[in-house]
Amino acid sequence: MNVYDSEQMERLLATMNYRPTLHQEKADLIIINTCSIRDKAEHKVYSHLGRLARLKLKQPNLVIGVGGCVAQQEGDRLLKRAPHVDIVFGTFSISRLPSLIRQVSQEGKQAVDVEPTGTVEPSHIKPTDFQEARATAFVTVMRGCDNFCTYCVVPYLRGRELSRRPERILEEIRHLAAKGVREVTLLGQNVNSYGLKNGHGLDFPALLEAVNDIEGLRRLRFTTSHPKDLSDKLIRAFGRLDKLAPHIHLPVQSGSDRILKRMNRGYRRGNYLARIEKLRKAQPNIAITSDIIVGFPGEGKTDFEETLNLVESVGFDNLYIFKYSNRKNTPAFRFSDKVQEAVKGERFARLLELQSKITLDKNRALVGTVQEVLIEGLSKKGYDQVTGHTPCNKTVNFSDERLRVGQLVHVNIADAFSHSLLGAPSECCGKLPGEKGGILHAA
Ligand code: SAH
Ligand code: SF4
Repeated sequence: MNVYDSEQMERLLATMNYRPTLHQEKADLIIINTCSIRDKAEHKVYSHLGRLARLKLKQPNLVIGVGGCVAQQEGDRLLKRAPHVDIVFGTFSISRLPSLIRQVSQEGKQAVDVEPTGTVEPSHIKPTDFQEARATAFVTVMRGCDNFCTYCVVPYLRGRELSRRPERILEEIRHLAAKGVREVTLLGQNVNSYGLKNGHGLDFPALLEAVNDIEGLRRLRFTTSHPKDLSDKLIRAFGRLDKLAPHIHLPVQSGSDRILKRMNRGYRRGNYLARIEKLRKAQPNIAITSDIIVGFPGEGKTDFEETLNLVESVGFDNLYIFKYSNRKNTPAFRFSDKVQEAVKGERFARLLELQSKITLDKNRALVGTVQEVLIEGLSKKGYDQVTGHTPCNKTVNFSDERLRVGQLVHVNIADAFSHSLLGAPSECCGKLPGEKGGILHAA
């Protein structure tokens, strides 16, 4: 979601003639878009701001802005802790960024805007020139959250749930597809409730169906779907919509009913497992990933064993594991039976070990198969390898100098690791017809 918000900022800054630079020392303006879901993310903001203080001493005209959830949470306090910051703007204030920048440059005064007001619609939906040469994009379809899980800051910092208008979402995706984007991921904290409150006339499965019809788009994904209201209609969409990729991220958080209740998640282990069964019936190849918090207050040995057991019985394709982080103003902040850091660490390591084995086994089972890969860019290894994802969202790296960003190719899977697959383009299939794409390798 922050990636999407940062792109909105980039679009707004482009209207003021700002252009991105790869060199921080050359920047006239630096914006940090922040996250405060866990305290680690928040600490990073302050250490980064510490480094920028030195840069500002050398370049006093540099304007520094801090946006996102830490800004929303801290407001004026952020300026006390980091006086070299010029602009603090919260999660509701992105569209007001240009006027805040003008205020700072013209009046030379610091500006703070953490007012929880503003529209859910982004001001600019057309990608900038810099955002064009991409194969994939995120599109936010709703903001905020009404669920109030007891550990989570989102409802406090991003406000109540609000859905964007379907026609604006579709228009944005059409622009992206026309610029060469082949895959979009629709974003919301709980996409299942898209449109229900605002009465836009379209629920989430209907929105997916409309996006599925957009010409030029090849793949469609969404995140996150809350298990408590994952509808049968949405499950059926996996069997019905040809562009909907067979992958769902369905955060379970814990395998213990007692802990799920304390988290206020609104479902039990049994409901979750029943949803998984239905998903696999509707789309037998579906990849399932999840989030788990270890060491939630009151989590005992038995609760954790139940989580291990659930992970083993579902057989997730991948898992994001987090140690519980105590966030101010959330109900769990006041829960007294906190789990010790050392215990959280042990549980984290045990769960990671279990999941790494499951992930590796699943990846190894793909060796020898042919997978469709959307080429997204160069792999982290550098110039001799490209990278992309399969429909099930597995990362595939392989070498082929002829390939371009945005092409869909068939790839033989030659080897498997815990985080990626290694492939070679299949001679028999090569690139799929009608793919153009931008230039990947410089001449
Ligand atoms: N709306 C999504 C989650 C968004 S936050 C959902 O409900 O599925 C992404 C993940 O961060 C959550 O799924 C949770 O696992 C983790 N998370 C959120 N708050 C946390 C906290 N206080 N401590 C540790 N992990 C947390
Ligand atoms: Fe946070 Fe729960 Fe909302 Fe997800 S559903 S954003 S975890 S409150």
